[in-house]
Amino acid sequence: MLPRRLAREMKTVRAMIEIYCRETHSTTSEGLCEACLQLAIYAEKRLAGCPFQQNKPTCGTCRIHCYKPDMRQRIKAVMHYSGPRMILHHPLLAIAHLLDEKLIRPPRIKANPSAHSKSRDDHS
Ligand SMILES: [Zn+2]
Repeated sequence: MLPRRLAREMKTVRAMIEIYCRETHSTTSEGLCEACLQLAIYAEKRLAGCPFQQNKPTCGTCRIHCYKPDMRQRIKAVMHYSGPRMILHHPLLAIAHLLDEKLIRPPRIKANPSAHSKSRDDHS
């Protein structure tokens, strides 16, 4: 079982990808286009493998950037587009995420740095 926060973050990232896909890729039904589906699956895998689990900071404040570079670019585009829209579409998830961002300090210790060292260099 996933810690509740991770389960909620999965819902949040999925909702953001759905907004992005529907509005920028003109996806009609409930589903996601192929590329966005891949991104959603990738994001869920990264969350499930997050070394901080229940103490996880929000990905935006985390010191470990565990996404590989092309996925990182894609998720950044999604966050940039859907972030401001979340308060309208999913106010509860948006507020919970904002609270996490304020309340949870990014852990200082690097958990398992070897597994993540490849993509940690980019702080932009
Ligand atoms: Zn899409």
